[in-house]
Amino acid sequence: MTRLLCVHCVLCVVAFLALPSRGADVDWSAGVASVKITPDKPVPLAGYASRTKPFERVDLDLYAKTLALRDAAGHRGVLVTMDLCIIPTEVTDQVRARIVEQEKLEPAAIILSLSHTHSGPAVSLRAETAGPTGQPNPDASGTVEYTKGLQEKLVSVAHEALARLEPATLRWGSGVTHFAMNRREFTDKGVILGVNPRGSADRSVPVLRVDGADGRARAVLFGYACHGTTNPPNHLGVSPDYPGYARGVIEEHFPGAQALFIAGCGGDANPYPRLGLGDAKKNGDELGAEVCRVADGKLKAIGGNFRARSLRRNCRWRRLTGRGWSRSRRRRGFISRMRREC
Ligand SMILES: [Zn+2]
Repeated sequence: MTRLLCVHCVLCVVAFLALPSRGADVDWSAGVASVKITPDKPVPLAGYASRTKPFERVDLDLYAKTLALRDAAGHRGVLVTMDLCIIPTEVTDQVRARIVEQEKLEPAAIILSLSHTHSGPAVSLRAETAGPTGQPNPDASGTVEYTKGLQEKLVSVAHEALARLEPATLRWGSGVTHFAMNRREFTDKGVILGVNPRGSADRSVPVLRVDGADGRARAVLFGYACHGTTNPPNHLGVSPDYPGYARGVIEEHFPGAQALFIAGCGGDANPYPRLGLGDAKKNGDELGAEVCRVADGKLKAIGGNFRARSLRRNCRWRRLTGRGWSRSRRRRGFISRMRREC
């Protein structure tokens, strides 16, 4: 008998839409802000359930960075990017509700985006809960304390960006960087989390450049579709992984500008190589250089009105039973690894 397991999985898709350009008469305003979100005390990291100890060092600080936009008609929106792996819906729902009330924004106009670094702290408001991936949390109180402080910072940094709206122009382009590697490796024992050079991966690098009235870059928003898993589970250092190093390259190249990272659809992709911190910097340097090349090149102007829409979907997952389940169980490594590493 086939059993269907309904998993309350919420897929939230938020899109910022710019209509076709009406020409040079369209004026944008943009504002940026940033806040450090590195934990003050050692707390468990998210992303690898095999970890049993809190972090031991800070390799590179974590940030929440925001970009607020307003079109000529007064429509506003704010993007909040975070160097975090996973965040519970109840945490983001509370943050979004506070920003809605404080800033009089539509909920859909608030994007709370995670980089998905596996070297960021676990986030939870529930002391009784294990870590976000189900592992025991040896310092749940520290995680809850961190999460409450994080919520305050996110509300504040969204407000700061919205309060700093100034005339701006928006242009975009796209490049390519090659370290994203499909991680579904087919072996004699089944599919494992490994390296599959022939598998699909999105290696495009979308770039949005935001210039101030003086023509200088104020913000560079870029994306890449790849997990932040350069560091292995036994590495207990806090780090934004490759996106953080890429931001450093971009902010050095564009003095005074803020670089923001948004993760693409990289659930099947790991960085390659991914042997440790050195590779995080190497991959980040490569990505940052490509973003700078694109941002310095010929870009397409963005005009029109600003609109935001959001959609939440409940996904149904089918539980494997009978022969299908038996075959999967024989594929040792796949199921267990899927539970250990999200
Ligand atoms: Zn992951």
